[in-house]
Amino acid sequence: MSKITMKTPLVEMDGDEMTRVIWKDIKDILLIPYIDLRTEYYDLGLENRNATDDKVTSDSAFATKKYGVAVKCATITPNADRVKEYNLKEMWKSPNGTIRAILDGTVFRTPILVNGITPFIPTWTKPITVARHAYGDVYKNTEMQVKNGSKCELLVTDKNGTQTKKTIFEFDGTDGIIQGLHNKDNSIKSFAKSCFNYALETKQDLWFATKDTISKQYDHHFKDIFAEVFETEYKEQFEKAGIEYFYTLIDDAVARVVRSNGGFIWALKNYDGDVMSDMIATAYGSLAMMTSVLVSPDGTYEFEAAHGTVQRHYYKHLKGEETSTNSVATIFAWSGALKKRGELDNIPELSDFAEKLEKATIKTIENGTMTGDLYLLSTLPNKKKVNTREFLIAVNDTLKEMM
Ligand code: NAP
Ligand code: MG
Repeated sequence: MSKITMKTPLVEMDGDEMTRVIWKDIKDILLIPYIDLRTEYYDLGLENRNATDDKVTSDSAFATKKYGVAVKCATITPNADRVKEYNLKEMWKSPNGTIRAILDGTVFRTPILVNGITPFIPTWTKPITVARHAYGDVYKNTEMQVKNGSKCELLVTDKNGTQTKKTIFEFDGTDGIIQGLHNKDNSIKSFAKSCFNYALETKQDLWFATKDTISKQYDHHFKDIFAEVFETEYKEQFEKAGIEYFYTLIDDAVARVVRSNGGFIWALKNYDGDVMSDMIATAYGSLAMMTSVLVSPDGTYEFEAAHGTVQRHYYKHLKGEETSTNSVATIFAWSGALKKRGELDNIPELSDFAEKLEKATIKTIENGTMTGDLYLLSTLPNKKKVNTREFLIAVNDTLKEMM
């Protein structure tokens, strides 16, 4: 059988620890035998980020802007321990943060469902994708503790020097706390566009929810920008695609989400998205089964797994002990990127292959072969736990049967 040829390279962002081990195995076992894999390789492993003063991270983001599709391995975000462990020149920033800032993108997280692993909300038979606005609000706040007797005001000085003042609170009889938040119209617009584009792309309804009844200026502004972008740029396309944009108060959204069967995208402000994505991930069963894609408003895509580098398993691996690390989300990062590349370059064989790879991965688990994390959750009677590499080989066996 001849290998599938590619036109445009994928931007390949390698990473750290256990996911770096899995990365190479996925390529060797599941991709290179079938595809004449063309990638532009960027090593985002912590050692190389340190050696390049983190230039490799921004280079990889600019390459994504150029080519349109990237696939990323999980990477270490350094803390004080990592600075010592890797003898770092600096506590380099989170690569995901750097890439997101350059691409101005929104992260969409979607669970992968398999028979035998029932969500904690069993009526969720389809995935719920969470889109979190990753800019501003409480994550870029200014806050203070204030003393009894203080008068706290919001003061805005415009470019002509004109000042507008509003009282926040006058503390009388007690100390207290205050905080100032902001967001930017262009960031909210980019967020809205990424959400509308992704809804069209995946042919799913888009829900958006804020607390606009209480926050009549701040949250309401999000609602207004979404409505305007939808009316002027997306309404017709949504009608043609047979999908819906639906705004509701966040309280109502939470109630509806719980009662739903899934199968939609839920857009949320930064804090709501942070909290709800953890709730959704947990309710579907496993972080190792959660995919993540960063979509920019101008339509570039960066695919990855939602989990980290699985450090604990890596240290076992280094000691020569057997590991049973789940590679599903990383496989789906590759398949997502290959599918997209196939679509953009009009190579249906490439998209078909990626689709088959996903089916083979799910079928392998549904036939009973799985890694330890899923083995603990699965209700299948004939389940069997395999190690990290055995799982990939089992997926390849299933894939070969499907070819
Ligand atoms: P983690 O790598 O997600 O792992 C936390 C725990 O979750 C693991 O110890 C393991 O539990 C379980 N787990 C996660 N993924 C798994 C998988 N694929 N298969 C099986 N079990 C899995 O989070 P972390 O240990 O907090 O972070 C490690 C490093 O990853 C940190 O340096 C952090 O900065 C980085 N990180 C990167 C990204 C990213 O690049 N997108 C995201 C998050 C974290 P058991 O140990 O109980 O088996
Ligand atoms: Mg969170």
